[in-house]
Amino acid sequence: MARKAPRKDVASKNERVLHTRIPAALEDDIKKVADRLRIPVSNLVRNILQDALALATSVQKNVGDRVAEIRDLASPLEAQLRGALLRLRPAAGAQPVGDPATAAKPGAATLADVIAWQPIQLGRVTTCAGCDAELAAGSEARLGLTADPSVRLFSCSSCARKQQRASRGASKVSKDND
Ligand SMILES: [Zn+2]
Repeated sequence: MARKAPRKDVASKNERVLHTRIPAALEDDIKKVADRLRIPVSNLVRNILQDALALATSVQKNVGDRVAEIRDLASPLEAQLRGALLRLRPAAGAQPVGDPATAAKPGAATLADVIAWQPIQLGRVTTCAGCDAELAAGSEARLGLTADPSVRLFSCSSCARKQQRASRGASKVSKDND
């Protein structure tokens, strides 16, 4: 028994007394549990606090790790998305690179690049990509779709027909060559 005394002194140097107000009902519950476990109330309270703190810390750490993981996953995705958005808006995205005169014009494509024509009715004045004729709002025109979904060409119907004839001729020639 006499040997226990110094150990107790060493321990008490690193221990503090924590006072806290708790509801009477909670105190009753704690006492009941301590009785059932046959341990002092203070030991039970200390154990509960240590467990709760360890749990909270590990949850916090896990959440922190997950947030970092998600951030790592998200940043390349975000870059991809931003790139895709820039590609969808070629006029805005292409501006910083190369000659602004050619970059700003989505009309680097010509009628020869059109893979499909769609008859349309114009909502506003535009110019034919083939003959530069002014096409009035409300007039019938052709919308040319190219392999690049962001490039659309507007054309008068006669230029669209010319393009179709030209490409038909080209494919005939290549067939004849076969
Ligand atoms: Zn035209």
